[in-house]
Amino acid sequence: MPAVVSLSNVHKSFGALQVLKGVSFDVAAGEVVAVIGASGSGKSTALRCINALETIDSGEIVVCGHKVHDPELDRRALRRDVGIVFQSYNLFPHLTVAQNIMLAPTCVKDMGKAEARRLAEEVLAKVGLAEKADNYPEQLSGGQQQRVAIARSLAMQPKLMLFDEVTSALDPQLTGEVLRVMEDLARGGMSMILVTHEMAFARKVASKVIFMHQGKVWETGPGAMLANPQTKELAEFLSNDL
Ligand code: ADP
Ligand code: MG
Repeated sequence: MPAVVSLSNVHKSFGALQVLKGVSFDVAAGEVVAVIGASGSGKSTALRCINALETIDSGEIVVCGHKVHDPELDRRALRRDVGIVFQSYNLFPHLTVAQNIMLAPTCVKDMGKAEARRLAEEVLAKVGLAEKADNYPEQLSGGQQQRVAIARSLAMQPKLMLFDEVTSALDPQLTGEVLRVMEDLARGGMSMILVTHEMAFARKVASKVIFMHQGKVWETGPGAMLANPQTKELAEFLSNDL
């Protein structure tokens, strides 16, 4: 399997603060990678570097064939291949669900309105919200809004999806419905990297878990590693998480 994402010895600082201290990992096509670790360990920064929302100081990042570390990087081309969903879903309140989803395909991909509408309905069906196309975001629950945000990313037909703690703002019941959508995507073969606090989900769905600690990949392995930590730092993190 060719790697969809490859990080090699990535360093990133904000001023004097070293946030990524030589991070390396690969994601194969169709792989689901869960990134876990304490707050401040560099998880979000790593994701943002993958999508070129941050520029790295040294090392290499290759994503779907794009050399992200290259100053000549075509950011638009990269972002056509990579979808990213954050904790805050940031839907436009004055647009309907379908209009929110149609925005990028019509503006970025020059897709016609009728085709974009069909696509919106298709991706909404994927996240179980076909009947909400003409509702406004405020008429939906937080979990439903987050599923719309995922659908909006899917409408760009990405090769890779990045999820940064997308369920952290949701109560447990709504968390479940969002996790189910992500699990469906994983089963459908989507390559994805998710930063998550949902350890049970990571164990069940992830083909690989990466534990970050103080800006480094501290431990990595299959989901089963969560039941059998090899480092005291991971053991401690897992015990704090209970
Ligand atoms: P995590 O997602 O694991 O909680 P982050 O990657 O968000 O960690 O942050 C790692 C460290 O980098 C934190 O100390 C955070 O305050 C710092 N940091 C993140 N983004 C910036 C920024 N844009 N400017 C300065 N410091 C930042
Ligand atoms: Mg974070």
